[in-house]
Amino acid sequence: MQNDDRNVNSDPTAPIRAGHKIVTQIVDNFASADQAGRMEPSNGSLLVVSAHAGDFVWRAGGAIALAARRGERATVVCLSFGERGESARAWREGRGLAEIKALRRAEAEAAAAALGADIRFLDAGDYPLVESPELTDRLVHVFRELAPTVVLTHTLADPYNGDHPAAARMALQARVLAQAIGYDAPGEPLGAPPVFFFEPHQPEQCDFRPDVLLDITPVFDAKRKAMECLPAQQHMWEYYTDLAKRRGVQLKRNASPNLGLPHSTMAEAYVRLYPQVTGELA
Ligand SMILES: [Zn+2]
Repeated sequence: MQNDDRNVNSDPTAPIRAGHKIVTQIVDNFASADQAGRMEPSNGSLLVVSAHAGDFVWRAGGAIALAARRGERATVVCLSFGERGESARAWREGRGLAEIKALRRAEAEAAAAALGADIRFLDAGDYPLVESPELTDRLVHVFRELAPTVVLTHTLADPYNGDHPAAARMALQARVLAQAIGYDAPGEPLGAPPVFFFEPHQPEQCDFRPDVLLDITPVFDAKRKAMECLPAQQHMWEYYTDLAKRRGVQLKRNASPNLGLPHSTMAEAYVRLYPQVTGELA
């Protein structure tokens, strides 16, 4: 083709760099690792509020690994282990509740370690995950302690799984309460960390229309390793690998008109809840 594509084609890494450029422009709080995967010093703190023990891996593993690689503190809070609703294989194997919780905890700890994140379990129970002032208050304490600069959680709609919106509602409420100077919890009042909803399993049914595509190519190996820490949900490994490829294709199409190039970029999709604050439209 007689256009700029010749230059792009001569350098197979150019689309990835282009992807990085647009992503960092769109999502200033998600500054990507550079081409060599080197991390830049950062005071960022990523907080992921996950209803069940596996959710953060499938939906936000790339964002977590990128933050960790940049040297940020990345913390996952699992409100439950997914012991009743997302551990079907273990139940079929005849395991008991306590054993399943221990199993899911160990898997999630291994996955978090593979991503470079700390992980905490609030053991609030699942199916149903019950919203309560007490559980929200525990999250407020987490917000005050960690002072996150970015928050990731579930969508507010999910007709397949009530626990996911419940987790999101509590995360959002805790964020707002943690901002109130008069709220009785240790630490300084929270700033206004942006909130991103990670991709649900059935995006169309959850009103999930991505407005952020995050390039996770440099850390996809870590995400895959983390996924493989969850053998109870082995059917998800390929599904979320394929999804990352499709989101990667979309990322590149939004980064530049590079149709026809190899599709090697991997991405995660997000919806940003609050407006982006910027001094320059880009
Ligand atoms: Zn879940």
